[in-house]
Amino acid sequence: MDAPLLIVGASMAGLRTAEGARRAGYSGPIRFLGAEEHAPYNRPPLSKELLQTPGHGHAEVAFPIRSALEEGVEWMLGRPATALDTARQVVTDARGDEHAYSALVIATGLRPKPLPIDGHGLTGIHVLRTIDDAVALRDSLRPGANVVILGSGFVGCEIAATAAKNGATVSIVTQSRVPLERALGPLLGAEMRRRHEAHGVRFFCGESLFGLVGDPAVERVILTSGVMLECDVLVVAVGSDPNTEWLQGSGLDVSDGVLVDGGLRAIGVDGTVHPQIFAVGDVARYPNPLFDDVARRVEHWNLPTETGKRAGQLIAAQLAGDDCEPLAAAGFAPLPSFWSDQYDAHVLAFGMTYLADRSELVAGSLDDECIVEYYRGDALVGVCGIGMRGAVQAYRSKFAVPARQ
Ligand SMILES: Cc1cc2nc3c(=O)[nH]c(=O)nc-3n(C[C@H](O)[C@H](O)[C@H](O)COP(=O)(O)OP(=O)(O)OC[C@H]3O[C@@H](n4cnc5c(N)ncnc54)[C@H](O)[C@@H]3O)c2cc1C
Repeated sequence: MDAPLLIVGASMAGLRTAEGARRAGYSGPIRFLGAEEHAPYNRPPLSKELLQTPGHGHAEVAFPIRSALEEGVEWMLGRPATALDTARQVVTDARGDEHAYSALVIATGLRPKPLPIDGHGLTGIHVLRTIDDAVALRDSLRPGANVVILGSGFVGCEIAATAAKNGATVSIVTQSRVPLERALGPLLGAEMRRRHEAHGVRFFCGESLFGLVGDPAVERVILTSGVMLECDVLVVAVGSDPNTEWLQGSGLDVSDGVLVDGGLRAIGVDGTVHPQIFAVGDVARYPNPLFDDVARRVEHWNLPTETGKRAGQLIAAQLAGDDCEPLAAAGFAPLPSFWSDQYDAHVLAFGMTYLADRSELVAGSLDDECIVEYYRGDALVGVCGIGMRGAVQAYRSKFAVPARQ
């Protein structure tokens, strides 16, 4: 039997790639190797609906498996990959079993960065990436609990909003000047702070953790300024690292994610393209000609779909023995988009707002519904709205031609 299309990482990007390959005509075997025990599920509700709804679990967030994937697909879950041998075209899993592949998809995503100081084995310290993390955190977010969130990115702010709605006493500790500073800039970041404070959330900006007190559970945190906060639940939300340890020694360039070309084909440390190996979703690092030629990882929900679709086309062509070069050379320029729900604010953005050196309010009013544009020099690199969804969506066409060549 032919070696399967092997997809390492059984989550959104892996699933979308399998769907894309089927849609593009690949009818051969597919094998998923997934570290989690769960079939693919949607992560955005983990910091929103699932975190505030007792009883909600995998069933409420599972992705439907389309009919094209009902046959010829093998799900090997709870089986993390540990090594890749590109010469033999084999992936090894944690049990020591080897999996040969005809084409390989790396879809292993990210994991939260750990607590930046020694946690001394204290309990009550959480991160949020998986459904198991979300269920454990939900059980701790009781009304009246003192919740300290380290980090003020989207995950930290969404947890803060959910915990505050649940009646917890919430503090955010951040090294930034305002929450969501990198993604939204100073203008909208300050407005999001105001909205959180209106719901009782306290901010400790320009701060970090100095120490923890408690036994066996965390009871207080000490900040670098000496401030001490009561703490029943400490959530560490200070960013993520790509899951690429299993690729060490494989010869692929895995400095900050898996470097890929415009066809999402992996590039080796020697600069050669591996035509049978693809990387998709949060773990992939690639240039986007809509903005510039710098390869970046982008952690937004629409990109597992965009990268999966694109890799699926290339995989089907590669395994059919077609010449993939024209397809790969056609370039890949997806428009990143993200959204966030905090209290009654629906935030929607397109582009790469974090590349901007300035932002400008162009419609509405910050303390209500509004639109903010983001510029790098004279080039529009992003737009973000609170509400005004239709008007924000209309910006999509403005990114259709490269902002910079
Ligand atoms: C709590 C949360 C809320 C979010 N909310 C939003 C939002 O509101 N809007 C938005 O735009 N985006 C949001 N995102 C981001 C979005 O969910 C991600 O961009 C998306 O999940 C990325 O999908 P992925 O398949 O690339 O990676 P992941 O979903 O991380 O999947 C990777 C999978 O690979 C597995 N894996 C890792 N290592 C191995 C290994 N060695 N072997 C086998 N399997 C392995 C992992 O266990 C995981 O199942 C949120 C993310 C989180 C965590």
